This record gives sequence, structure tokens and C-alpha cells, in this order.
Amino acid sequence: MEILRTVAELRQWSREERNDGGNTIGLVPTMGALHAGHASLIRAACDSVGYVAVSIFVNPTQFGPNEDFARYPRTFEADCALAKAEGADVIFAPAVEELYPDGAATFVEVEGLSQRLDGASRPGHFRGVATVVAKLLIASEADRAFFGQKDAAQVAVLRRMVADLRLAAEIVVCPIVREPDGLALSSRNIYLSQTERTQSLALSRAVRQVEALAAVGERCSRELIEAARQIFAAEADLRVDYIELVNWATLKPVEIAAPGSLFAVAAWVGATRLIDNTIFA
Ligand code: AMP
Repeated sequence: MEILRTVAELRQWSREERNDGGNTIGLVPTMGALHAGHASLIRAACDSVGYVAVSIFVNPTQFGPNEDFARYPRTFEADCALAKAEGADVIFAPAVEELYPDGAATFVEVEGLSQRLDGASRPGHFRGVATVVAKLLIASEADRAFFGQKDAAQVAVLRRMVADLRLAAEIVVCPIVREPDGLALSSRNIYLSQTERTQSLALSRAVRQVEALAAVGERCSRELIEAARQIFAAEADLRVDYIELVNWATLKPVEIAAPGSLFAVAAWVGATRLIDNTIFA
């Protein structure tokens, strides 16, 4: 498995593989510190396209000034081993200056959506995400790009971006991979102390409660949000960022859940911000 460092190398790889019998190209964008959630995306990509690139890039523009860019876990050797074991063909791991050359002044802003859900408490976050994913899609010329439902608001922003910029890539969304006790896997889970790890279960508990209510026919936003709020209220050290029922395409609140509605939660457990969600059937 080759490790590519420049946009030119990635583009050349993609074009060569495509011309080798009309193959399709898949891209799995990540920030590294790979876990079983990322592995599931790589496997989905390998099952669906001819050649798969996994990008590993801790993207500075999606972190706020007081966020964890400097201490974000970086485990490159282990990431390469995992990606290779799952069947990735290449790793794309550029330096920051490769994706943001000196004087870089071009950003992608998905207006409206970028200010909702996570975008409300993380100003500039989705601008950074949209910008880096646009760069990766353009560089890789991917036919399909694979993302986790875990970051459901990100998916909405990226779908809008791909549609608006008429990019060729199809966005494929893969299910949330969880720990046996329900916690959604995240590279940030390693920040949690033992006590916080226990408290963090409130997120998946809230999501499961909403799924249970949905299963017996509850569709009212107020009721669903209240049920989740009660679960969070039991955890004294947990600070809710948002509990929302929204249209997954627009991220605007809805009063009554419909098929495809997104129920999403975000909370700080100590200094760590965690997210979880479920999509209505
Ligand atoms: P990240 O490295 O955190 O930027 O995540 C890279 C990709 O992996 C994103 O598309 C995430 O949504 C996805 N991902 C992260 N955690 C999970 C998970 N627990 N299950 C499925 N996909 C995930």
C-alpha cells in the first residue's frame, strides 16, 4: 500500500487506476486515529469501487482557536496498518502546506447549513470541513466518497456542497459503529476519564430512548426532545450543546418526525464534546 504525499501524486494515481480497465475510485476522508468506525467505511468503499484511497489529514481549518487541533491523536503507523488490513489501495497523507499552500485564500462556505447543529457552537467548523473535502474530491477525482452517519450534520453540509458545485462524486453514508455498551466510536473517546466514559453513555441512551419512542409511534419533536433531555438531566457533569429534531437535508427543526428526519444530540462530557444521532425510518 503506497503512501502519497502530494495532490499531483493522488491525481496521477486516480487517473492511472481509472484508465486501467475503467475502474471506479473511492475516497475515505479521515483525520486518522483510525478505529472500527473508519474501518467500516474502508470496507464499504472496497466493496463498492475498484480502488480506494484513504486520506489522513488533521485539517487545521475545521478546528476553532480553543479546540484540540494540537492534541488531536496522531497514530500514523497504526492507521496505515489498519487501512491496509481493510483493503485500502493508497493512503493520502499530505502536509498542511500541500492542501493550504502559502497565501491560500479560497474557502467553501455552505451558507445556512454551516451555522446549524454543530456549526452553531463551532463557528467556522463546517467551512473548514467543506473546504478540505472539496480539495480532496477535486484532487482524487473520486467517483464515490464514504462518510459516517455519526457526523450527520457534516453529511448534510457535504451533500449540499457536492450538489451546488456539481462535483462528480457520489456521497455514500455508512451506519454508526458503536462500542458494545452503545457509545459511538470516536477518535476523541480516548480523552474521556473513566467517570466521563460512564457519563458519555447518556448520549447513546438518549438516542436509544428516542428510537424506542419512535418504534411505538411517537413523532412529536417536543416529546422526543423532552425524553432525551430527561436522560441528560440525570448526569450532573454533562453539559448539553443541542438536542434537535431536524430535516436531514436542510438541518432546520421540524415539529413532527417524518421518514428521514434526523434526531441529533451533542454534549460536553468534561472538556470533550461528543455527538450521536438517529435517522427516522
Ligand atoms: P474523522 O476522522 O473523525 O474526521 O472521521 C472520518 C470519517 O469517519 C467521517 O466520515 C466520520 O463520520 C466517520 N466516523 C467516525 N466515527 C464513526 C463511527 N463511530 N461510525 C461510523 N463512521 C464513523
